Amino acid sequence: MKKFIAMITSICLCAVAFLSTPALVSAVGNDEPAFIVEEVSGYAGDEVTVNINVNNNPGICAAGVTVSYDGNTLELKSVTNGSVLGGNIFGPVSNNPIKLTWSTTENSTANGVLATLTFTVKENADSGKSAITLTYDPDEVYNIDMTNVAFAVENGSVTINCNHVAGAWEEENPASCTEKGTEVQKCTKCGTVLNRRDTDALGHSFGKWETVTSPDCTNKGSEKRTCSVCQYTETRDIDPLGHSWESDYTIDKEATCTEDGSQSIHCSRCDAVKDSQVIPKGHKYGEWIVDKEATCTEDGSRHRVCSVCKAEETETIPAAHQFGEWEIITAPTCTEKGSEQRTCSICKEVETRDIDATGHSWETEFTIDKEPTATEDGSKSIHCKNCDAVKDVTVIPAGTTATDPTEPSSPSDSSESDVPQTGDSFPVAVLIVFFVAAGALTVLLVVNKKRVRSK
Ligand SMILES: [Zn+2]
Ligand SMILES: [Zn+2]
Ligand SMILES: [Zn+2]
Ligand SMILES: [Zn+2]
Ligand SMILES: [Zn+2]
Ligand SMILES: [Zn+2]
Repeated sequence: MKKFIAMITSICLCAVAFLSTPALVSAVGNDEPAFIVEEVSGYAGDEVTVNINVNNNPGICAAGVTVSYDGNTLELKSVTNGSVLGGNIFGPVSNNPIKLTWSTTENSTANGVLATLTFTVKENADSGKSAITLTYDPDEVYNIDMTNVAFAVENGSVTINCNHVAGAWEEENPASCTEKGTEVQKCTKCGTVLNRRDTDALGHSFGKWETVTSPDCTNKGSEKRTCSVCQYTETRDIDPLGHSWESDYTIDKEATCTEDGSQSIHCSRCDAVKDSQVIPKGHKYGEWIVDKEATCTEDGSRHRVCSVCKAEETETIPAAHQFGEWEIITAPTCTEKGSEQRTCSICKEVETRDIDATGHSWETEFTIDKEPTATEDGSKSIHCKNCDAVKDVTVIPAGTTATDPTEPSSPSDSSESDVPQTGDSFPVAVLIVFFVAAGALTVLLVVNKKRVRSK
């Protein structure tokens, strides 16, 4: 039981010691007498000064303290006395720890700088806190009555700053397929993060597309691919293939003798068809077989047979003579019809038909029918080459010659009187032509006068 209590007590003491120790180091009571070593900072190569201060001095006439520091990072250059105590004796600056003592004949209650230490921060010093520790022997700090005076101690330090050297960018948080990451640039000497920036998301590392559902002629299919890193799956449609039409027709139903069939273009993949066409029904007849030959006057007949259903088709062969070439019996003239005939070689039947009149074949030059004399008119006309007919009968005035160039050529247009005429009616025709021409001339003159007046 005693042991147990002792154990508990020691644990408690330890806990108190553990809890109170950092408090004693870091903070001295506000009105407690204390030696306080400053905390300063500097870069490698810098000169730094660290004061040892006295707080809440109750009155002392002598003191002795020992100051130790890290000789690897700091080099002590000098120690100068402060204003609290005189009679100082400082050991050589090469000592570490270095002993500092004061001894006077009067109490000093001054507060402030006890001593000032000047250090050089070594060029190769690592960055970080370099502790400066003060200790003292209680018998060496006393007042004029030779009574020891207790001082709390707050140790100091030189914080050595780093002349940062930026290193290479290095990954801090890796980027994922879809999220950005970060990378940092650290000091190669002290590891402080000097810069930070985002890195791009990596994007998925998809494998090959794999078919999930195959498309057919008319329906979409689908395919997917998976990221090998995060297993994200992407899916997309595959377009329908469309029909694959064959180039040739397929007969869907054969035509028979009596029923139509059909054919269409088929899709080679599915049942779809297009361009349906009717294959017409019909018998498959063989050659015609003559049952009765036709004669000149009587019809014959023939038939043919369907090779499939044996249906028979019968046809009449019309009766017909076997005529030879047409032969002319009476030749036609300018104005009279002629005739021709042909004969059947079998029954000698004769067929006769008319040949149309040929019409006149007019000369191109006038013929003088009567020479004019000094007192009597003559006449001329156009003659038919093949008969006695004349046209364009023209008066040749008395006292001129038939070939006189001043004589008016034809008083009437040749086409107006292009009528077949017989030689018998010649004198009457001449008179008619003359009177008609004279009458026409009179009418023309009267009409012309009226036109002039009306203007
Ligand atoms: Zn650094
Ligand atoms: Zn991914
Ligand atoms: Zn199809
Ligand atoms: Zn048939
Ligand atoms: Zn005949
Ligand atoms: Zn004629």
